[in-house]
Amino acid sequence: MSGEGSTPQAIRKLQPGKLVIASHNKGKVREIADLLAGRGFDVVSAADLDLPEPVETGTTFFANAELKARSAADLSGYPALADDSGLCVDALGGDPGVYTADWAETPNGRDWSMAMQKVEDALAAKGPDATRGAHFVSVLALAWPDGHVEWFEGRAEGTLVWPPRGKVGFGYDPMFVPLGHDQTYAELPHETKNAISHRNVAFELLKAAVF
Ligand code: IMP
Repeated sequence: MSGEGSTPQAIRKLQPGKLVIASHNKGKVREIADLLAGRGFDVVSAADLDLPEPVETGTTFFANAELKARSAADLSGYPALADDSGLCVDALGGDPGVYTADWAETPNGRDWSMAMQKVEDALAAKGPDATRGAHFVSVLALAWPDGHVEWFEGRAEGTLVWPPRGKVGFGYDPMFVPLGHDQTYAELPHETKNAISHRNVAFELLKAAVF
């Protein structure tokens, strides 16, 4: 069952031990590992374990986060934490949303410069008065090998800038200026992004519930 729109199941605590980060995205793995640091987990990524990347067939962040976490927990036999995230642009009706990574696909892998250009072109096509508001969403799903899953959702509001700025981070970071800041996610130090990001908001909820 997907967690979307439903009350989370009874909370289960996560005991220290091996924890799989169910992602092959190095940027995400690094951010999630940073968030987990010092809590007594033996963190390993799905890529480290050579787990296959499941096809994201869900149409919601919740469904895709659950699908990735379940797959890694089933295959590894350890609890697994997955993030499904994306950029939702107000003037584009929430696009690219769950298809944020797909906008970067090329025959030779993902091209984030191209993806950002697509977002900018779609905004330009809306005309000079199009608003530039956007938010990132992160849904964290924590799955246990027995099938239990917990979900947590975080958001970060901001504005899109052009041209892209900064070299830190990953994905669409260089065009996203979080609310209350002048620098893009890619210009801010890792620690600052980690402290304010959509992923951190979701992680704070997870921490309060399962640690
Ligand atoms: P997925 O969750 O693997 O489907 O991919 C979501 C995509 O959203 C990522 O590949 C990134 O391009 C983008 N994304 C998610 N979180 C961030 C972020 O913190 N900064 C920049 N891009 C992000």
